[in-house]
Amino acid sequence: MIETGAGRAAGFDDNAYREAGVTVVDSARALFEEAEVVIKVREPSEEEAERLHDGQTLIAFFWPAQNEAMLEKCRARGATVIAMDMVPRISRAQKMDALSSMANIAGYRAVIEAGNNFGRFFTGQVTAAGKVPPAKVLVIGAGVAGLAAIGTATSLGAVVRAFDVRPEVSEQIESMGAEFLFLDFDNAQDGSESGGYAAPSSPEFREKQLECFREQAPDVDIVITTALIPGRPAPKLWLEDMVAAMKPGSVIVDLAAEKGGNCDLTKADERVVSDNGVIVVGYTDFPSRMATQSSLLYATNIRHMLTDLTPDKDGVINHNMDDDVIRGATVTHQNEITFPPPPPKVK
Ligand code: NAD
Repeated sequence: MIETGAGRAAGFDDNAYREAGVTVVDSARALFEEAEVVIKVREPSEEEAERLHDGQTLIAFFWPAQNEAMLEKCRARGATVIAMDMVPRISRAQKMDALSSMANIAGYRAVIEAGNNFGRFFTGQVTAAGKVPPAKVLVIGAGVAGLAAIGTATSLGAVVRAFDVRPEVSEQIESMGAEFLFLDFDNAQDGSESGGYAAPSSPEFREKQLECFREQAPDVDIVITTALIPGRPAPKLWLEDMVAAMKPGSVIVDLAAEKGGNCDLTKADERVVSDNGVIVVGYTDFPSRMATQSSLLYATNIRHMLTDLTPDKDGVINHNMDDDVIRGATVTHQNEITFPPPPPKVK
């Protein structure tokens, strides 16, 4: 079943679903009443949570650590909640890793958004009307979104530099045709922590990093920041003086805006222009700005999740809490809160 019009903004009309054998229902209310498994993008609203019932499964982005009251509500309603943001980042679960699918889209879109705000070409050209230098792009944070941004910017012909506190990403950065900015520092770029995620940097390391960015500021045309540390506000890395040192018409796209932003001037969900004419884009809905692509990839992630939830291929849910991936993503089950999960046993 699908709620009428649910796919419209992503370019899929009701008929496309009907042709695929889906029943189109008039309202989400009807769907909540009838469906054994309810699938959404965002966490439920208060009203939707009220409609959940015993034994029903809800699959959505949920952010349980930030949504404790909603978690308790879903538990009390007897629903099983699978949080797509809690799918473990292990190889076997990559096909269900919606965080990576969305980060990939956000990284791509950040470059498109930068280009839309930038008054020149990305690629260098020699034309009869004059020589055009390539745009210089700096990507800060080379996780999934940062690497997607690097790939997109290099494919458009820009000169791309990138920085990350995790030294192991240098090879990935270079393999995508960008230059890795290496800090001359004892225990070199050591912001890495177990599990492949970043930890806060030491004050000395941070100073070195800011010094490097200060040198880059007058030279680069576009800065794309994606630096995040799980469970913490985004580190401030592109400070007011760096914005002031940039050329007018330069563009900053801050993918960390939702977590407070990596740039001092970022305003979440806004595009602001600094006194010296630098454009700072702080949108927090990059995947929604590419709804068709996001829907296709999210749907595939969900399809894989449903396949794993129905191992006997008979459409009957077998919620196997001994499966690391399902266990990790399940945040309420059988009237209990099952978050946080134990650490996964396999890599
Ligand atoms: P993220 O969104 O949490 O962070 C983005 C990037 O910001 C990270 O690369 C991080 O190192 C960087 N960062 C943090 N502080 C910084 C600072 N001060 N300066 C510069 N950069 C800083 O990360 P993510 O994209 O979700 O990926 C995190 C890790 O998980 C990566 O190693 C990624 O390859 C890995 N991963 C693994 C799988 C898997 O299935 N094996 C899937 C997805 C991601």
